[in-house]
Amino acid sequence: MIFRQLFERESSTYTYLLGDANSGEALIIDPVAGQEPQYLTLLQQLGLKLCLAVDTHVHADHVTALGSLRELTGCESLMGAQSDVPCVSRSFADGECLQVGAIALTAMHTPGHTDDSYCFYWKDEAQGVLFSGDTLLIRGTGRTDFQNGDAIEQYQSLQTLLALPESTLVYPGHDYKGWSMSTIGEEKRFNPRLQVSNQEEYKALMAGLKLPNPQQMDVAVPANRRCGQA
Ligand code: FE
Repeated sequence: MIFRQLFERESSTYTYLLGDANSGEALIIDPVAGQEPQYLTLLQQLGLKLCLAVDTHVHADHVTALGSLRELTGCESLMGAQSDVPCVSRSFADGECLQVGAIALTAMHTPGHTDDSYCFYWKDEAQGVLFSGDTLLIRGTGRTDFQNGDAIEQYQSLQTLLALPESTLVYPGHDYKGWSMSTIGEEKRFNPRLQVSNQEEYKALMAGLKLPNPQQMDVAVPANRRCGQA
């Protein structure tokens, strides 16, 4: 199995490329507009054909490359049903399997950061891997103060993620402090947002954050409703 974690500096976004070496088929999670040349070069160098491009949710901090990658590679573009973005090739629902070659990701609807947030769980032989989007970050969680975000829903979504085996690797949608990956066990113990005893405490913690809006929000959200295209 081929796995690459790519970083877009301006929005601190992680993009993941998963490839099946046998079939040569690949999928990409959360690609960022402007990074297409890098994605295409890497696909070519690794001998992979892009079959699927998926977003974990409608992003507010960067423009998606879902639309451009579909045009450039002929891949399918996918978002969760709750995103209600008509320009995608098709949408997926909670529990649905996204398959490319021998790679099978399970889509988990985890609302809270936004109402359309998904995580993807990948079990490769013994090792479970969670692509946690902006639901679970390393030593943090995604903000819940816009795009129908809801701290109580996020608390409940986080409980579902924390029920995964502690050895599960966690690859988030963003990182702002230099972290690249974690595990469920590590986050349970050391993530300061998870050291609360109930959903009301979590809600109070999130309400106290007072974060500025993302710089690109007014541009990114409408653009992403058009799959990142004009
Ligand atoms: Fe987000």
